[in-house]
Amino acid sequence: MTAPSAARTYSSTPRNLARLARVLRGGGLVAVPTETVYGLAANALNAAACRKIFKAKGRPSNDPLIVHIHSQKQLVAIAEPNDAALKLARHFWPGPLTLVLPRRPIVPSVVSAGLPSVAVRMPRHPLFRRLLRKVDLPLAAPSANPFGYVSPTSAAHVRAGLGRKIAHILDGGSCSIGVESTIVDLRDPRMPRLLRPGAVTRKQLETV
Ligand code: AMP
Ligand code: MG
Repeated sequence: MTAPSAARTYSSTPRNLARLARVLRGGGLVAVPTETVYGLAANALNAAACRKIFKAKGRPSNDPLIVHIHSQKQLVAIAEPNDAALKLARHFWPGPLTLVLPRRPIVPSVVSAGLPSVAVRMPRHPLFRRLLRKVDLPLAAPSANPFGYVSPTSAAHVRAGLGRKIAHILDGGSCSIGVESTIVDLRDPRMPRLLRPGAVTRKQLETV
């Protein structure tokens, strides 16, 4: 017999969003909907909170996390964007493009697995954006699945994989895209590197 799931699934009421924002500000984990896949979010400026992500997922600590933001102000607070990065951001954000940029010291090194860079994305999912605005902190969030498993695209899928490891799941319906964000390394603006193919194609990037 399997133990019952510990996770509670929350609908998108203002009261639930306020509660989940408090959980995140207090250093807790919340599984969140994005337009790509569900993420397992924590305050990206809190090392202890981010360590909980690695623990819940069984993710090796050398695998860095993507930080999710809702404003330009947050971007410059955590990273050092160059003109090329700002141009791509203007074109593709909010959306499924992740930019790797020099990291500011305010971001704990556990987030980027000790690298001097940080991966940043502004998601498009309206409910996740509401939560990001309410928390008003950058949120580190890898896909909300146990390490090595397929990325979840619904709240039920998150519950099936992590239901006994986490307490809070925000239900935002099925992910509209269902594949991971495209990752581009833009630390050297003259030499952009495609690190992971994803929802934004190489062709779309090259056009911009
Ligand atoms: P996931 O959030 O599970 O989709 O995975 C995030 C992926 O983003 C990692 O596995 C890395 O491939 C990539 N990534 C995150 N941060 C960095 C970084 N600072 N430099 C290069 N790649 C990164
Ligand atoms: Mg993943």
